[in-house]
Amino acid sequence: MKVKPQILGMEPYKPGKPMEEVKRELGLTEVHKMASNENPYGASPAVQEAIKKMAEQPQIYPDGYATDIRGAVAAHLNVLPSQLIFGAGSDEVILMLCRAFLTPETNTVMATPTFSQYKHNAVIEGAEIREVPLRNGRHDLTSMLDQIDENTRIVWVCNPNNPSGTYTTQAEFESFIKQVPDDVLVVSDEAYIEYVTAEDFPNTLSYLETYPNVMILRTFSKAYGLASLRMGYGVASESLISALDPVRPPFNTTTMAQYAAAAALGDQVFIEDCRQKNREGLNAFEKFCEEKGFSYLPSQTNFLLMNTGVSGDAMFDELLKKGVIVRSGEALGFPHSIRVSVGTEEQNQIFLKAIDECLKENNLS
Ligand SMILES: *Cc1c(COP(=O)(O)O)cnc(C)c1O
Repeated sequence: MKVKPQILGMEPYKPGKPMEEVKRELGLTEVHKMASNENPYGASPAVQEAIKKMAEQPQIYPDGYATDIRGAVAAHLNVLPSQLIFGAGSDEVILMLCRAFLTPETNTVMATPTFSQYKHNAVIEGAEIREVPLRNGRHDLTSMLDQIDENTRIVWVCNPNNPSGTYTTQAEFESFIKQVPDDVLVVSDEAYIEYVTAEDFPNTLSYLETYPNVMILRTFSKAYGLASLRMGYGVASESLISALDPVRPPFNTTTMAQYAAAAALGDQVFIEDCRQKNREGLNAFEKFCEEKGFSYLPSQTNFLLMNTGVSGDAMFDELLKKGVIVRSGEALGFPHSIRVSVGTEEQNQIFLKAIDECLKENNLS
C-alpha cells in the first residue's frame, strides 16, 4: 500500500503519561499530573447535571449543527451563529483548516517552538512549513511577515503561545494584520484566553469585521475543564466559515460535549475564580524561580516554562519519582526547561517542595 510519502516516519502525538500507569510503575499512591494544562478544579458543577441529561438517548445522533451551544457561544461573544465552526477540540478545527487550505504547492508560516498541531497537520497535507524562531521567547511577527509569499495560505499566531506562555500585544497584532495580504488566513489560537490578565492583550474579535481573513480558535479543554469531551471552535467572518464548513465531519461534536459546553459557558463565576487562583499559582512559581535564580518566561496561561539549568528530561524523571508529572522542555524546544501546569494551591506546594528536594539531592542548587 502507498500512504502519502510525507506520513512515512511521522510520529503520532505523544501525550503525557497517564496517571494510573505512573502509579503502577513507580509504586506511588499519590500522583499529581501537572503536564497537560488541564484545569485542576475540574469543570463547573453545572456540567455534571448537563451530562446526566443525555444518558437516556445515546442512540440518537448529535445535532450536527450544534445549534444550542452555537447560539450560546454567539451570544457570549456577541457574534452571529453563522460566524462559528465547532470541532472535537480546537485540534479538529486546526485539522479542518489545513485540509481546506493546504496542498503541496502551498506553504504555511508559524513560530517555533509553538503548538505542535499546526505543523503536524500541515505536513500531512504536504505543504511547505516555514518556521520562524521565537525572539526573546515571543512571536517575531516582523520576521513572520517576511516569510509570507504568493504561495502562503495560513499564518499561525498562538496567543498566548504554548509552550512559552508569552503573548503578542494588541499593538503588535494590529500592525501585523494590517500588513498581511488579505488572501492569507491569519489564525489566532487563543486556547488560554480565559487565563489572560494582561491589559494590552488583543481583542481579536474586534478585527473580524475589518479582516475577513482572521480566524480565532478557542477551546473548552483548558479553563472550562472539558478536555475529555473534546469541544473547541473557530470564530471568523461568515464567508470564511461557510467556505470551511464542507470540510467538517457531519457529527463531529457529541451531544454530551454540546450539553456540557453550554453548561460550562453559563458559569462565568467559576471561570473568574479559576483565573484568580491560577494567577496566584503562577506568582508562587515565579517567586520560586527568582529565589533559585532560574530564568522563566512570564506567562499569560496556566503553565510556566522554567529554565532550571539542567536537562528537562532529567528533571522530569526526578520529579516523576516524587509523584509529580510535568513536561520536559526537551521535546518542546527548550532543552533546559520544564513546563509545569498550575495546579491547585496544594499541588503547587507539593510541586515546589518536590523540585526543591530534587535540586538538593542532586547538588543542583
Ligand atoms: C490545548 C491546546 C489546543 C487544543 O486543545 P483541544 O483540546 O483540541 O481543544 C489548541 N491550541 C493550543 C495552543 C493548546 O495548548
